[in-house]
Amino acid sequence: MNKSTDFLIIGGGIIGLAVARSLRAAHADASITILEKEPVWGAHASGRNSGVLHAGFYYASDSLKAKFARVGCRRMTEFCDEHGLKINKCGKLVVTQSEKEIPELERLYRLGLTNGVELSLVSDDEARKIEPRARTVEKAIFSPTTSSVDPGEVTNAFAKQASNENICLLPATRYLRRRGQTTVVTTEGDIEAGYIINAAGLHADSIARDYGFGEHYQILPFRGLYLYGDEPPGSLRVHVYPVPDPKYPFLGVHVTVTVDGHIKLGPNAAPALWREQYGGGDGFNASELFDVAGRSLKLFAKSNFDFRKLALTELKKTSGPYMVELASQLVSGIDPHLYRRWGRVGIRAQLIDSRTEKLATDYVLEGDDRSFHILNAVSPGFTSALSFSEYVAEKIGALLTQ
Ligand SMILES: Cc1cc2nc3c(=O)[nH]c(=O)nc-3n(C[C@H](O)[C@H](O)[C@H](O)COP(=O)(O)OP(=O)(O)OC[C@H]3O[C@@H](n4cnc5c(N)ncnc54)[C@H](O)[C@@H]3O)c2cc1C
Repeated sequence: MNKSTDFLIIGGGIIGLAVARSLRAAHADASITILEKEPVWGAHASGRNSGVLHAGFYYASDSLKAKFARVGCRRMTEFCDEHGLKINKCGKLVVTQSEKEIPELERLYRLGLTNGVELSLVSDDEARKIEPRARTVEKAIFSPTTSSVDPGEVTNAFAKQASNENICLLPATRYLRRRGQTTVVTTEGDIEAGYIINAAGLHADSIARDYGFGEHYQILPFRGLYLYGDEPPGSLRVHVYPVPDPKYPFLGVHVTVTVDGHIKLGPNAAPALWREQYGGGDGFNASELFDVAGRSLKLFAKSNFDFRKLALTELKKTSGPYMVELASQLVSGIDPHLYRRWGRVGIRAQLIDSRTEKLATDYVLEGDDRSFHILNAVSPGFTSALSFSEYVAEKIGALLTQ
């Protein structure tokens, strides 16, 4: 294959596909190509996440996450409705496990209101009217606009729409390296690209370095495992989440209602030893093992965000009975005999900032008039894809006209 394109997007996850769509809206006549190393769409985070459309109340008001989650949630909900995709508009409760958590719950509530999210602070009695199985102390937050989708179905619908909009999709084609200013070497031949957009998820940091970006960031991937329940659909009405620990970017083990009404527990967030460590030797890469596991070991010895405590707590959650114990603090009647099936692992493309030696909590965007790099597109990246991608397209437009 010898090909040329105006815009070349590396990575056909929800972000790469959404950026293609926003670029098409801004550049009707441009040629746009998406490279995806896998033969299918959504093989990584975009097809393996919780499938929750987050309302947007967890994120610091000045963050990009807050800027795009609320509108992204509404736009993704509309997208699912318009395209006849499955969506369960179940809503969500955030519950407290002790009086000590109430100030943090109230802080979250105020943050949500500042972020313009529709929320209510309800009493324990009101919470049980919303979800009879929810367990909370005094108060809970109710979010009516949180819902569930099938993330694989949504990602495939984005790919179909991209193809309908005359975007060239190249699955099973891997970016290998850069040659000179404009040539990209792939497993299927060279591509001449006017502008390169890196949306490669777990590999975005290393591709960014080929272009002189991402200097301060290194990958610290975290595996997320789910435990599926065999209760009949409809056994739980709403998602039930704990009050998260503000020190970490993860939301804690929660009880999620899937798009078809089943219950799943999780995900945990155990450190991965290499980028695509889905199970067994999957995606094994010796140099990544050296790099990623070595970084984890160093952080285990000393870190600015108590990585040791995080890693030990999360590793404990890889036990099914312990996951059930945690979920039982949120929801009553979780019978351990009905929670024995582990689901597919999803891996977060989490970055650590080498300047602060802390986890990056927001999206990281870097670029110039030749390339643009989307780093740390972690949760709620799926929810926000439609609003976030418009911002990315605008940024690229501005860089091109500077
Ligand atoms: C366990 C878990 C739970 C989550 N839950 C939620 C949730 O409930 N709600 C929510 O909003 N978000 C959630 N997220 C976050 C969400 O999944 C991500 O923000 C989003 O999927 C990121 O999309 P992406 O396109 O950047 O990444 P990806 O889906 O990983 O896509 C990147 C793509 O790039 C491709 N690629 C990589 N290297 C190359 C290369 N060299 N050449 C060509 N292609 C390449 C990969 O194959 C991949 O398909 C969760 C994530 C995880 C892991």
